[in-house]
Amino acid sequence: MPPRTQSRRQLEPWQDPKAKPYITLENVTKSFGSTVAVRNVSLSIYQGELFCLLGGSGCGKTTLLRLLAGFEKPTTGRLFIDGIDVTDVPAYERPVNMMFQSYALFPHMTVAQNIAFGLKQERLPTKIIRERVMEGLDLVQMSAFAMRKPHQLSGGQCQRVALVRSLVKQPKLLLLDEPLAALDKRLREQTQFELVNIQERVGITFIMVTHDQEEAMTMSSRIGVMEEGRIRQVGAPHDVYEFPNSRFVAEFIGASNIFEGVVIEDEPDHVLIDSEAAGCQLYVTDSAAVPVGAQVAVAIRPEKVMISTKQPSEKRNCTKGVVRDIAYLGDISIYYVELPSGKVIQATLPNLLRLSERDVQWEDEIYLYWRAENGVVLTS
Ligand code: ATP
Repeated sequence: MPPRTQSRRQLEPWQDPKAKPYITLENVTKSFGSTVAVRNVSLSIYQGELFCLLGGSGCGKTTLLRLLAGFEKPTTGRLFIDGIDVTDVPAYERPVNMMFQSYALFPHMTVAQNIAFGLKQERLPTKIIRERVMEGLDLVQMSAFAMRKPHQLSGGQCQRVALVRSLVKQPKLLLLDEPLAALDKRLREQTQFELVNIQERVGITFIMVTHDQEEAMTMSSRIGVMEEGRIRQVGAPHDVYEFPNSRFVAEFIGASNIFEGVVIEDEPDHVLIDSEAAGCQLYVTDSAAVPVGAQVAVAIRPEKVMISTKQPSEKRNCTKGVVRDIAYLGDISIYYVELPSGKVIQATLPNLLRLSERDVQWEDEIYLYWRAENGVVLTS
């Protein structure tokens, strides 16, 4: 396997206007009869990225992956890999490998035989096959399991073998369709880190499909959020979470409190929104310009909402409500607070104190407030 490449933190080629994308989709649409699975998607992915396609069921993630693999042909649009137009290139001639959701290993073959299978089909010399199998097993720390059969392995170990089987073919691009779906929560979290480490070490570009937003946030260099065949936003996990570009993304990734309102001031350093639903004026810095009079929504993440029994001095970004519920989740608690408008706001707080020791309890009237930089103005 090639040596470890640069770390994920250093790898932000999309910030460099001179960087050439490794994968380019130009206005790609895929229809199945009257169903439009992928709608006019244009996307650039860079070498060495671990790019996650994230979206709900049926939004077109797998179809997009299958288009890249060459198992489907776009109805319109073009696909490029490493600068070459591959739109009409068959799957077996593309430098791409796909790891499917059901990565069935051959039950009668050993781990080593399973991994060697694809290489034998390529008729590579036995010595090279043996070397690549050993290197691959070493990469996922499974050298000691080479002679075991799949039924003698755990789910996570099978998953690692399937990954090695895809990697030893040395594709330039590996497509992974929900690779961790079969694993339980704990193993899944552990394997997420392993997969990221392996991807960094081999330096191969990964495009992964998931419907699990935490998985996408943990693993990816960037996330493409999909809805009904469209890519709604592309960005690094932090950017997509902190600066969602639409109500859909704000609500799909993490929880959001969303307030409707009307813009009453649009100044270079802030936007002021009158919101009946919030019961206060919303003062937002870090916002793009929005015309006075426009109907907008403002998203505020529950962990950015602070609560107090005493009235804060600032009137803006501060409202009052009654605690209707407290959900205790072990590490955090979620407070559901009903405002006079009937809207329920969520505020999450770390559990520094036990529930019974806190000064805020069910049915208490409390103040909720947040900082001006924590609101996100959404126009769509
Ligand atoms: P999931 O997370 O449930 O796997 P997905 O986001 O991967 O969903 P796709 O499998 O890409 O979604 O499907 C997108 C849409 O295209 C769906 O409405 C699906 O029914 C439809 N579709 C996919 N493949 C075909 C096909 N071969 N023929 C007809 N319709 C299809």
